[in-house]
Amino acid sequence: RIVHVNGTYVPEEEARVSVFDRGFLMADGVYEVTSVLGGKLVDFPGHLARLRRSLAELDMASPATDDDLLAIHRELVARNGITDGMVYLQVTRGAPPDRDFAYPNPPVPPTLVLFTQSKPGLADSPMAKTGMTVVSIPDQRWARRDIKTVQLLYPSMGKMMAKAQGADDAWMVEDGVVTEGTSNNAYIVKGNAIITRDLGPHILSGITRAAVLRFARESQMQVEERPFTIEEALTADEAFVTSATTFVMPVVRLDGQPIGAGRPGPVAARLREIYLEESRKAAV
Ligand code: PLP
Repeated sequence: RIVHVNGTYVPEEEARVSVFDRGFLMADGVYEVTSVLGGKLVDFPGHLARLRRSLAELDMASPATDDDLLAIHRELVARNGITDGMVYLQVTRGAPPDRDFAYPNPPVPPTLVLFTQSKPGLADSPMAKTGMTVVSIPDQRWARRDIKTVQLLYPSMGKMMAKAQGADDAWMVEDGVVTEGTSNNAYIVKGNAIITRDLGPHILSGITRAAVLRFARESQMQVEERPFTIEEALTADEAFVTSATTFVMPVVRLDGQPIGAGRPGPVAARLREIYLEESRKAAV
């Protein structure tokens, strides 16, 4: 596999990042994951805009222009022959000569790393037919989840807690209400209403979320951006999650109990279909 490191394309075995890199030492870095469908980048402008915001929130220097970042994504997709899969991009604050909590002053160049993962048939995941299962766990992440940092230890622990209970993923709960999944935004459906947590520091503003809510509104569905509890989710007609790599994925069980009929519901199926169709059209 060919990867990108700070302006150069190299085989993955030859890629090098300093041991002093603050991404490695302090999780001082941000990332984006963009899906590739039919060799094209899905929702790319949204991912770029969120990357810019994450960098700005952390006073981190930009590693490249928007045009350069698009060109690098495309080059990696081409060089690695990706038809369906994803491109991972990470920017860290770089590698100052000494470990210090304070940001380096003067600043050092940020570290830019990108790589691809091939996932043939990404849009035809069997899980979209069967649905996934989730368990609830406490949300013990830091309080700035709107910034997409590489600080992913708690979500990893959450995924392991889910696996230990035989489930696919976890929904995190804080102050009695659901924030989001370990790596996705969480939704319930009641009648004609789609309910998902309102934006703020407590969740990541999903790029897929924005597109799906837009399509839902355009299809005359009612969208309610508000907190919901696990109890409310257990009495919902349907549930689902969204993310760049899973698109719209039905959730059929929560804490061992079926949601609705315990099968993927029509609203999630319809939104998945619209999302895939529209995002393929808009892909770059
Ligand atoms: N919430 C969290 C915590 C995530 O990690 C992700 C994606 O990785 C999402 C939501 C979904 O965001 P997006 O739709 O931009 O992939």
